[in-house]
Amino acid sequence: MNEKIMTASKVGFPCDRNIYYAVNGFKGEVKESSQRIFDVGSALEPLIVKWLNQDGWRVFYNPGSQSAALEFYAPINGGKIGGHPDAFMSKLNCDNVLVDIKTMNERAFISWKRNGTIKDKPQYADQLHVYAYAAKLAGFPVDKLAIAGMNKNNSELHIDFFDYEPERMNKIIERAERILNLDKAPEQGERYEAWACSYCDYCKHCELCSHKRDTHVDNSVLQTNDADINNAVELLKEARELSKAGRELENDAKAVLDEKVRMQGVKSVKVNNLILTLSETSSSRFDSTAFKKAYPEIAQDFIKTSSSVVYNVREAV
Ligand code: SF4
Repeated sequence: MNEKIMTASKVGFPCDRNIYYAVNGFKGEVKESSQRIFDVGSALEPLIVKWLNQDGWRVFYNPGSQSAALEFYAPINGGKIGGHPDAFMSKLNCDNVLVDIKTMNERAFISWKRNGTIKDKPQYADQLHVYAYAAKLAGFPVDKLAIAGMNKNNSELHIDFFDYEPERMNKIIERAERILNLDKAPEQGERYEAWACSYCDYCKHCELCSHKRDTHVDNSVLQTNDADINNAVELLKEARELSKAGRELENDAKAVLDEKVRMQGVKSVKVNNLILTLSETSSSRFDSTAFKKAYPEIAQDFIKTSSSVVYNVREAV
């Protein structure tokens, strides 16, 4: 029997069952949309390496994804884990950084940059831990881990550095060994997240795939895989998250400007090609609550009923 291999990019996937299919040689079907996203990421990698070089990083680039020249594998109980890291890079006092290159859409990039890899993209942190674990075993020094991420909407490049944590690696190995030693497909497991089935290549083998549920109405909830509805709900969710992130960014910026500009009595600032102008405004508001309390009968005569729809999006449980 062939030795089972769990690739680093698979290790952090939030469904045990998906990983079971992958390590046991089930034939997956990569969706065209996923393949294209992957292709764009691969095509942009050399460009990102070039930008890192321009920023002063000495980069050892290991191109070619699954066929890259440099690969590290470490034996564990039931098989081996590892794969092909994207790059090692160094600069001044920052040596031996094991880095993975990722491209992200605006929403994912903002959230990742704000929250960091460990919190926002634990699967990326797991992937790098596996490379580092196997690289160290092979005698390659690794002092730091990093994700070099590019925002596909505006080409911003950001690097998030983090440390190798032995405790995290122990948990990764524990999970990997448990899945490698299963003799039948498990449930999704405690790390399962609702989005997993949308990015899973094994839906055709899996009776738990959420996409296989028929379209039906249950307690006035329409359960459906209609692509248009699916896209629209995702889009609305993304729009809400972007505007929330936008409000938070604006508040962060205003807090700095309040302290360093407004409180100093400055009315206008020029930075590079931007001019910030502060203007005082005041507004008056009709206090309808107080009016209703003071003159309930009169208020009643002026109440006009209109209806609109509020769209709320939340994660299903
Ligand atoms: S289809 Fe969903 S439940 Fe089934 S293996 Fe894939 S991610 Fe897991």
